[in-house]
Amino acid sequence: MIRMNEHFRKLQSSYLFSEIAQKVAAFQGANPDTNVIKLGIGDVTRPLPPSIVTRFQEAVAEMGSYGSFRGYGPEQGYTFLREAIATHDFEARGMTITPDEIFISDGTKCDIGNFQELFAEDVRVAIGDPVYPVYLDTNVMAGRAGEYQHGRYTGIHYLASTAENRYVPAPPDQPLDLIYLCFPNNPTGATASRTELAEWVAYARRHRALILFDAAYEAFIQDPEIPHSIFEIEGAGEVAVEFRSFSKTAGFTGTRCAYTIIPKAVHVYDGNGERHGLHALWNRRHSTKFNGVAYPVQRAAEARYSETGKREVAELVSYYLENARIIRSEVSSMGYRCTGVDNSPYIWVQTGGSAWEFFDQILSRAGVVVTPGLGFGPSGEGHVRISAFNDREKVSEAMQRIRAAL
Ligand code: PLP
Repeated sequence: MIRMNEHFRKLQSSYLFSEIAQKVAAFQGANPDTNVIKLGIGDVTRPLPPSIVTRFQEAVAEMGSYGSFRGYGPEQGYTFLREAIATHDFEARGMTITPDEIFISDGTKCDIGNFQELFAEDVRVAIGDPVYPVYLDTNVMAGRAGEYQHGRYTGIHYLASTAENRYVPAPPDQPLDLIYLCFPNNPTGATASRTELAEWVAYARRHRALILFDAAYEAFIQDPEIPHSIFEIEGAGEVAVEFRSFSKTAGFTGTRCAYTIIPKAVHVYDGNGERHGLHALWNRRHSTKFNGVAYPVQRAAEARYSETGKREVAELVSYYLENARIIRSEVSSMGYRCTGVDNSPYIWVQTGGSAWEFFDQILSRAGVVVTPGLGFGPSGEGHVRISAFNDREKVSEAMQRIRAAL
């Protein structure tokens, strides 16, 4: 008898998103003439920048010719892309990350979801609340979460991110082993200061813990005081791994390319307390289970670092940030408090009551979809996330409709 992994039966969160889909479908059925505007999703709407498309096309053409065709590439990624990342994302900001500490992949979702495989089943896991659901669900699947009771898993340490701590949780008093941090945060849009990140790094060093730092929204940081990378913090190179993606930066959500940085100085421990290099462990996992990102995709990603590519990406980011400012200004003028915006594509709105009620109200009265905060963790109640990833006209129209409706 083929038995299932019963930990999968403990998964909860898809419930919220299917409920949203059902509610939207019901509304659309009853109001076929209303053009529903979705400000719920975290997917980009602008096309790939022209210089990236050109390089992409050239690389596809290379694959069609005998002299330049390539078969399997290195599982860790082509050197040209790893070098470009090391130079432009790290060296340019005063950090030393060598190209061989960078692993290219087809997405941060996959990398961060797969990464927990490297750790013992009984490591103590801390997850922001609210946060991107992949961190939690992959640990549930792996059997680390315990039982689901009253909206929480008994085996997970939730780091409550609330208005009181400006949505940036401080390290707890007790020791934990695997800590997921995400800044700028999805869904709250909150960013962590240098001091706040330094507290986490000190904590990880004290407890021989590991920080998994998700920097998928790093490109949205505008404030020069906010660190773009955990490796800007002294000592982080021994206790942290960083995940970055071309998805939200360069419009690669459908093209798929991301990268994970594992400094060689990061270690994990076996049952006898002996140290093992995390880099070697991930390299083993990655080269066993992954066969590399397509060559044209890696060339397209590399084009993001040319002077033209940088300018085009900055324009894309500014476009969404301007959407975010429009949303914030409208929502604030209606009397709601919100975070995010200046350094993030998400606006986290305090609804002052049930997130579902707010959702229902603006769907039924305005035909606009947002995401109830509960979908990202229990502390998300009383909030909704509004995404700035949409076209300007739709964002403006959505805001007009919400204003009229409320
Ligand atoms: N990390 C966070 C915090 C995200 O919000 C998302 C996507 O929404 C991802 C990672 C996924 O990135 P990728 O498209 O590279 O898989």
